[in-house]
Amino acid sequence: KIEIAHLAKSFGSHAVLRDVSLAVPTGGVVALIGPSGSGKSTLLRCINLLVVPDAGEVRVGSDEFRFGPGTRLPGTQALARFRAKTGMVFQHFNLFPHLTALANVMEGPLTVQRLKRPEAEARARALLAKVGLADKAEQYPSRLSGGQKQRVAIARALAMEPAVMLFDEATSALDPELVGEVLGVMRALAADGMTMVIVTHEIAFAREVADRVVFLRDGIVVEEGPARTLIDAPQHPDTKAFLAHFH
Ligand code: ATP
Ligand code: MG
Repeated sequence: KIEIAHLAKSFGSHAVLRDVSLAVPTGGVVALIGPSGSGKSTLLRCINLLVVPDAGEVRVGSDEFRFGPGTRLPGTQALARFRAKTGMVFQHFNLFPHLTALANVMEGPLTVQRLKRPEAEARARALLAKVGLADKAEQYPSRLSGGQKQRVAIARALAMEPAVMLFDEATSALDPELVGEVLGVMRALAADGMTMVIVTHEIAFAREVADRVVFLRDGIVVEEGPARTLIDAPQHPDTKAFLAHFH
């Protein structure tokens, strides 16, 4: 599960997140929507501590961090272990270009988890099969389509056996015809019971796959509710105006 309480983050004098609270139960899926610059990516990055909050609490599973004046980050090792538990998938896949798909997926288990090579390879092959890329294991990223690269990136995050998965516009950089295959993998993960936070502009997908939707604007949760209710019948005028762009 994920619990975020009273999170605040400023860059200089710009308050990007202001008292944001958010809860995702184990197996739950929350979609985070909102205009550009509303703080969605910053919020996601605070959940896995890629960005250090100024104030508030971050809980993922049994790990708990409180932030305030003078609080320091945990050590590098504890941080690496924590980040591995919160798998993150970005808009631009960030695969290692000099490694095959298989080696990309094996990298974390080998270096962070210190798995033996045969075990890491078996796990990586199983995950590549799960995302429909068993036959692309020996391929380098430059030879893969955007949708295939993103599916390798998802397999790579899953290889660390994360407790939660965070997706930051995982399909925004893809050609329209490749979006479906990545959404399909995400849909299957959600159905499998993975706890997920999804930042997306795919409103129909959010409506279908998420349990709850959070609408963020100017670093504030303006409206939050069951996915269908919020998308079909938004209450706040800002949510209405935002969703009107997608009809
Ligand atoms: P988009 O839909 O365009 O991805 P977003 O909702 O993800 O937007 P963020 O990326 O979280 O928005 O950014 C929120 C605000 O914080 C923006 O005004 C951005 O310029 C600013 N910001 C984000 N990261 C930094 C940083 N490292 N340093 C300074 N300002 C930043
Ligand atoms: Mg963003």
